[in-house]
Amino acid sequence: VASDDHATLDELRRQIAIATRMLVAAGIVEYSGHLSVRIPSARDQLLIQRVDDVRSALVPEDLLLVTLDGDILSGTGKPPSELPIHTEIYRSRPDVGAAAHFHHDPTMVFSLVEGCPLQLVKNHASRWISGIPTHRDPSHIATLDQGRELAATLGSHHALLMRGHGEVVVAEDVRTLFADVVHFVENAAAFAHAAVLGPVQPLGADDMARFTATFDRARHARKLWSYYTTTHCADGVFPPEWIRA
Ligand SMILES: [Zn+2]
Repeated sequence: VASDDHATLDELRRQIAIATRMLVAAGIVEYSGHLSVRIPSARDQLLIQRVDDVRSALVPEDLLLVTLDGDILSGTGKPPSELPIHTEIYRSRPDVGAAAHFHHDPTMVFSLVEGCPLQLVKNHASRWISGIPTHRDPSHIATLDQGRELAATLGSHHALLMRGHGEVVVAEDVRTLFADVVHFVENAAAFAHAAVLGPVQPLGADDMARFTATFDRARHARKLWSYYTTTHCADGVFPPEWIRA
């Protein structure tokens, strides 16, 4: 059960702005890339930033409310050109409540190296035990057809690499999405470090089953969110009133 089913539109706006700013602060999102959230009470609608908004200065009120057909219901300005990534994933995946697209090269490089697929080496990477597909088309996902092709590559998985381009991660809500994105790039970094030391023995299905047996995903996402928001708020990454009840 998604923990944010009852979040108001204003709360969702703040969550997207906070998560985006924190991912910029973490060096994962930069001048490009975007997060979206599906509206739980209107499941054919989503919130997403505008194409030219500076990711590190995102303001909740400026986010656009957009339908899965790309119609803007509230806000002024244009959505990102890669909006079809979000709309076509939401259309094909009822379980997805939030999505992130970013361009993190240390993670993306695993889409380029022959015989070196991204492997799962951290327990929190259990989220991707079903696999991390690579989308072969390196172009911007700017059309509906491209969005559908990307959603088909994602299938029932929870993350993919876009060859020579970036990453997509999907989750049930914004806080779990934030935790997943952090863990996704951490896993890639740990794998890269391990591979320098010697042949890597990734965690397998049995290891992951053992881990997930006692793992509370929603609680973990809240813990990570609490840690990062407290730390980054103190650092001035976003205004303190955004996390006051
Ligand atoms: Zn992109």
